[in-house]
Amino acid sequence: MLEAVNRRIDSKRSDLVSLTVDLVRIPTINPPGDAYTPCAEYIARRLKARGFHVQLMRGEETPGDSDRYPRTNVVARLEGKRPGPTIHFNSHIDVVEAGSGWTFDPFGGEIRDGRIYGRGTCDMKGGLAASIIAVEAYIEANSNFDGAIEISGTVDEESGGFGGVAYLASKGLFSKPRVDHVIIPEPLNKDRVCLGHRGVWWAEIETFGTHAHGSMPFLGDCAVRHMGSVVTKMEEDLYPLLASKRTDMPVVPEGAKQSTLNINSVHGGENEGFDGLPSANVPDSCRMIIDRRFLIEEDIATVKSEVIDLLEGLRKDRENFSYAIRDIMEVLPTMTDRDAPVVQAVSDGIRSVMEREPDYVISPGTYDQKHIARIGHLHDCIAYGPGILDLAHMADEFIVIDDMIESAKVMAHATHALLHPLSL
Ligand SMILES: [Zn+2]
Repeated sequence: MLEAVNRRIDSKRSDLVSLTVDLVRIPTINPPGDAYTPCAEYIARRLKARGFHVQLMRGEETPGDSDRYPRTNVVARLEGKRPGPTIHFNSHIDVVEAGSGWTFDPFGGEIRDGRIYGRGTCDMKGGLAASIIAVEAYIEANSNFDGAIEISGTVDEESGGFGGVAYLASKGLFSKPRVDHVIIPEPLNKDRVCLGHRGVWWAEIETFGTHAHGSMPFLGDCAVRHMGSVVTKMEEDLYPLLASKRTDMPVVPEGAKQSTLNINSVHGGENEGFDGLPSANVPDSCRMIIDRRFLIEEDIATVKSEVIDLLEGLRKDRENFSYAIRDIMEVLPTMTDRDAPVVQAVSDGIRSVMEREPDYVISPGTYDQKHIARIGHLHDCIAYGPGILDLAHMADEFIVIDDMIESAKVMAHATHALLHPLSL
């Protein structure tokens, strides 16, 4: 039976390509969340025509939701002939802005040398298209399947997923008994099973000073210089400490196998976003946003206290140093067990289609698996998809058509294995 599914997937190559191109040409840029509704409706029309029960679900009043930029998600479900488990393929439909440096039209979906170019081809409309083709081929070859198959296209993954998977999870769409197994076709490479991700802590640090005339800075106290002392302390103490913390999680790429800290932004003084002449002022405030990625071996209290201890040290040692710190977001690391059913099913698929052992990896950054684990309490979830991880968010992003074909075969194999666990 799986041989027949594979042949069908091969025969759907041009359908797979045109589906991907169509999706790329809908510029679902986030922020602000453009064109979500037409993209969701496109997917809805396609799956409805294949007999799916389709729902459009707007993430009402989630961050960014408005009548101009509605957070429109699509969820499609097809019941099998007999009751059984449900497998769900979840893809985000939003993409990041194109940015500069493109030699292709970022929303053109141009095809060259077996690749499709465009923003979102890799992350992750190619994965979405591969999962749709996998499921369509599977149900054509085996309309007699047990259980149910779901496909969703969700919004806002690139900005935290609150109007997308988090919203749907809060409505029970990512929990048992409705759903048993979830595959997220994020671009982690076609021969890798992604078990989870590192943790994140975002925070804002503010240093304070005293306003004065810029010609007499000695009468004031410069908040930016205080922030400079924070950066110096981080360079001297915190970065070496983070570099010494290594994980046993199989994080890729290699550089992300340790704790990391990105200084996301620093803003001090006036004239932010103003291109006239500045006025002569000593800044009384400077704000820094930090993006700390942590390991499953670390706990979040320690992660935070490392930064707070550094600031407290400065408060003791540096004259007039005062600060505030504010949490913006935190996500705990998550890692699905290697013997979980969805991991086994996809691994089997990789062995069968590619005749090699899969690699097991952990993503350096988070994705929507966090909401499925934390809100849906569903842990049989992984990311598996065809794109090349390093191309995500880059100029001239592309997806290799052969990779989509191969990973669609793996997804169809996994679908059968999960819906008919005794048959393989
Ligand atoms: Zn993505």
